[in-house]
Amino acid sequence: MAKSVYLETFGCQMNVLDSELVLGQLARLGYASTEDYRRADLVLLNTCSVRQHAEDKVYSRLGEITKAKQRRPEMVVGIIGCMAERDHDGLKTKAPHVDLMCGPGNLNEIPSLLAEVVEDRQARRHSLAIALEQDHSRRTPAAERTRIYDSIEALDLSREMPADGRVLQSYIRVQRGCDKFCTFCVVPFTRGPERSRPPEHIVEEARKLADLGAREITLLGQTVNSYKYAEGAGGPGRTVTFADLLQRVHEVEGIERIRFVTSYPGDFTDDVLRAMRDLPKVCEYLHIPAQSGSNAVLGRMKRQYTVEQYEELLVRAREVVPGISLAGDFIVGFCGETDEDHERTLALVERVRYKNIYMFKYSPRPGTVADRRLPDDVPDEVKQRRHMELAALQKRMCLAHHQAMVGREVEVLAEGYSKAAIKAQEAEQSRGQEISWKRSDQLTGRTRGDEIVVFTGPESLIGEFVRIRVTSATALTLHGEVATRPERVRSLSVL
Ligand code: SF4
Repeated sequence: MAKSVYLETFGCQMNVLDSELVLGQLARLGYASTEDYRRADLVLLNTCSVRQHAEDKVYSRLGEITKAKQRRPEMVVGIIGCMAERDHDGLKTKAPHVDLMCGPGNLNEIPSLLAEVVEDRQARRHSLAIALEQDHSRRTPAAERTRIYDSIEALDLSREMPADGRVLQSYIRVQRGCDKFCTFCVVPFTRGPERSRPPEHIVEEARKLADLGAREITLLGQTVNSYKYAEGAGGPGRTVTFADLLQRVHEVEGIERIRFVTSYPGDFTDDVLRAMRDLPKVCEYLHIPAQSGSNAVLGRMKRQYTVEQYEELLVRAREVVPGISLAGDFIVGFCGETDEDHERTLALVERVRYKNIYMFKYSPRPGTVADRRLPDDVPDEVKQRRHMELAALQKRMCLAHHQAMVGREVEVLAEGYSKAAIKAQEAEQSRGQEISWKRSDQLTGRTRGDEIVVFTGPESLIGEFVRIRVTSATALTLHGEVATRPERVRSLSVL
């Protein structure tokens, strides 16, 4: 009988992609996915360490899983991803029932870790099967590192494409790790040094996804625009930049939209802006974290750019790429942040007029420079107040951004039924009624600028690019009606 795996993913898009790769490996070992952890043979949590809150959620989930394992001791429980890398000692103490731990740089080792668990059980032992990136740290000899990179690269290349059904949108990793060492961030510790993947591997993945029907891909990297790869190493090669990579992926037939996240302001060069302007498939959307509107705070964060440089970049982005949508990230209450610093952040957000911002309350991450050297001296109630002020500004700004789009026509990739439609369907199901999509066929999709649009249309539009006339707006969503359904998408028609 097929074994079953329950895999729950916490955190960022990189983790979503990692989970897909892990499930692919496990499928080759005969595991089928299940939604019910209580009945699963293998339970894996792919974890995030970027904030304390994310780790707390994992511990709370582990509590529920422990109860299930007490009832079914044969269940194998594993913690994978950033928390396994960062807090394996804490986890060993707080979750002694865990059988397996694996850092994000070692996910290719999961089959051998599972074999270890089985061997232990056969010998009636319980020891933790563990594989961590720090076992091959930044000091690991170059030849050994190359071997490790090649084996983890093989995992990306072995990516299982779903045999049934279509892929509409997908992620492709272009880079692993990060070398920036912002003082608040654990990523350089959990995901190791920055290294870019060979461009031909990225293009090959894009082709495979296009063959499966993918129309939109998102290139992923911690500092995606820092991508660079030396081709023909040892000979008269050249360095492939991120702008070059966009050009190469753009040539893949069938892919009609290209996005990329997350950009790092300090490394952002104008050739990427020109690529966004000149390559019709590259969406006019830039997610570029500022983190603070105060130079003093940026300095303590070691962000390697000033507020002025950040703003100049965004001004150039608007000049070069007309109609570009901007999104940013901000941390409130970082060490030493004063009310004046916070006012500067609010002022920056007002000036930039983002499409959207993502904001987080600072929480110290063990092992980071900020945790070791900077006091976490902003009281929680002050962090909370600043967070609420920024959230209120964000809501006002998003509403204004969306209201300015009312009356316009936008290109939307119809992704599926809207949340309201799905809820209505679930209610019908729970009342024992037959599902009647026709009554609630509200679809949802995104524009090239990443705005969410809800509109009424038949199921046959899912997976299509549709022209939508925007009729109303809230801070979160645009509402509209089908204007025309193009034969070919805009990006291809101008090629
Ligand atoms: S750039 Fe800074 S915030 Fe982003 S992943 Fe690297 S260290 Fe973390």
